[in-house]
Amino acid sequence: MMQRILVSACLLGQKVRYDGGDCRQDGLLAGWQSEGRLLPFCPEVAGGLAVPRPAAEIDGGNAEAVLFGRATIHTREGTDVTDAFLEGAEKALAVCRQHGIRMAILKEGSPSCGSARVGDGSFSGVKVAGQGLTARLLERHGIRVFSEERLDEAAAYLHWIEVA
Ligand code: SF4
Repeated sequence: MMQRILVSACLLGQKVRYDGGDCRQDGLLAGWQSEGRLLPFCPEVAGGLAVPRPAAEIDGGNAEAVLFGRATIHTREGTDVTDAFLEGAEKALAVCRQHGIRMAILKEGSPSCGSARVGDGSFSGVKVAGQGLTARLLERHGIRVFSEERLDEAAAYLHWIEVA
């Protein structure tokens, strides 16, 4: 059976970013989209946040700490949006389970979708090693997460799970 892939909706051109824009990527993603593999999802919108919305960053820890209630996610203005981020992450996991999804391609650097780096909590544009909340939750449940910067690795993994 063809493996489906959860993808950050903004990577497929949906204007769901906090600033009302998108991060459209073509190349491999376009090919997979034409095959009907891709399931676009925006965890922050699914969690009830608006477009546009204030930028948010993980505060006082990493995504793992947020999942266990030991850190939070705040906007620059200080609004606590942790619950919305958690709801979006849980909904992303539910979609993966519903469709038997084993891999995701999520936008690098996002406090939800980042898989290798996220903002450092200072809203200064500085990124540190870490994951966004949705990426962390999916990986905790065995779903491999790749960013748009690692599409070659994603393609290799897709090939491996389809022949395994
Ligand atoms: Fe894109 Fe993820 Fe941010 Fe939604 S939460 S706009 S899918 S990076």
